[in-house]
Amino acid sequence: MPNMQSEKTKMKIQDGKVRCNNWDEVALGYTEDEAKNEAARCLHCKNAPCISGCPVNVQIPDFIGEIEKGNTDKALEIIKETNALPAVCGRVCPQEKQCEARCVRGRKGESVAIGRLERFAADHGKKEEVIPEKDNGIKIAVIGSGPSSLSCARDLCAMGYKVHIFEALHLPGGVLEYGIPEFRLPKEIVRNEIENIKKAGVIIETNAVIGKTESVDELFDAGFGAVYIGSGAGLPNFMGIEGESANGVFSANEYLTRINLMKAYREDYDTPIKKSENVCVIGGGNVAMDAARCAKRVGGKVKIIYRRSEEEMPARREEIMHAKEEGIVFELLTNPIKINIDENGNADSITCIKMSLGDADENGRRSVSPISGSEFGIKADTVIIAVGTSPNPLLKSTTPGLESDKRGRLITEDGVTTTRKGVFAGGDAVTGAATVIEAMGAGKKAAKKIDEYIKGLL
Ligand code: FAD
Ligand code: SF4
Ligand code: SF4
Repeated sequence: MPNMQSEKTKMKIQDGKVRCNNWDEVALGYTEDEAKNEAARCLHCKNAPCISGCPVNVQIPDFIGEIEKGNTDKALEIIKETNALPAVCGRVCPQEKQCEARCVRGRKGESVAIGRLERFAADHGKKEEVIPEKDNGIKIAVIGSGPSSLSCARDLCAMGYKVHIFEALHLPGGVLEYGIPEFRLPKEIVRNEIENIKKAGVIIETNAVIGKTESVDELFDAGFGAVYIGSGAGLPNFMGIEGESANGVFSANEYLTRINLMKAYREDYDTPIKKSENVCVIGGGNVAMDAARCAKRVGGKVKIIYRRSEEEMPARREEIMHAKEEGIVFELLTNPIKINIDENGNADSITCIKMSLGDADENGRRSVSPISGSEFGIKADTVIIAVGTSPNPLLKSTTPGLESDKRGRLITEDGVTTTRKGVFAGGDAVTGAATVIEAMGAGKKAAKKIDEYIKGLL
């Protein structure tokens, strides 16, 4: 008999007032009893609709059934058949928009907590990586080591290819390493997942910026049969307002990289980070929430400035709630128009204007317009700009035949096959900033296309 409890089994989290002073993980995960209780809520539906909500098609009812029976290792084995990074996805997938959005239990009450159960299996199950028996001797180059590249590399490796990842930074993982903070995704978890992928045979070379250290053409000359570009969308957008180049103004990307990759918050690291009295983060997405919550832990009063209302915020509801619990103040329907500087060129305050909401466009997004005469000032000695990112143009500009659209996203005919023969791409480099699991789904699709392409050449 399934457990007909209408709500998800609660997962313990650190209290907001405590956690805003530490970098430990906020959500603590299920115990075995809690996981079994939640697993028993699954109805094991015929044609389980939840599976089609997952971009890598994790066999959800099967793995949940194993958790219910107490077979955690088997549950993890099932997840790993299609998902290279289960401990990451169980933590950061926006499940409410993906697998859980299609869960039948969600029609009356809350969906099954698929993400929490996936995290439980990944944290407690054991599954040795399968090392491919035969190596076909064909080398594939993968650019970038974010989730899309890792997923593509692992699948290619399992097919028998020799996969070599080239990563520009000194550590692999992409946004998982440099963007998402420790308190949402501990770096030890990311490193364990990457170690597993290396054990399966993938080679990762860091400090290798393709387009500078070597070009894509040089990779082909070196004998790589195909190239996958998973270079992400790490180029920050700015607002173009006066004062944006003042001292104390950061892109969210730089601020988060200093903290996550360069460990600026730790005494034993030399990376500088500005300690502020008043931090303002501009934007309403997950990146803005992460930057604000990091700034809170560094110290000071933190405000989020967003030009629409909370309902329109693109960030996950859970992240908004966590930010509020940690004492972050939201200045909504507010748009910055100028960053004011002091006599030393440091940011000092932001002049803002109040906004009013108008009608919704064809995507349901409501327009906003400024309310004249409503200008006011907000104190800010640190300003963090989180208004989106674009793909870096380096690979496009150094690879003949590789085309991008006007927003810098690589053009593909089917989501992964680029305009240059033998070059495939996926993840944020193609879609613009999206999600970990969508990037992984593209990596998997590209692995299949690369295999077809190579077989077509033989
Ligand atoms: P990335 O993760 O960006 O990785 C690209 C890698 O390529 C980087 O390591 C980069 O250094 C490397 N690279 C770039 N150019 C070159 C080159 N020329 N040569 C060699 N290497 C190169 N998504 C979620 O699903 N849930 C979340 O909670 C979430 N939170 C986020 C929080 C933040 C702060 C940010 C920035 C993003 C967040 N996202 C989240 C989005 C998600 O992280 C991305 O959609 C995902 O990481 C994209 O994966 P990717 O592999 O395409 O690129
Ligand atoms: Fe859901 Fe993400 Fe797991 Fe897929 S990988 S089942 S979308 S939590
Ligand atoms: Fe279980 Fe929900 Fe999937 Fe049905 S839709 S199999 S209840 S997780």
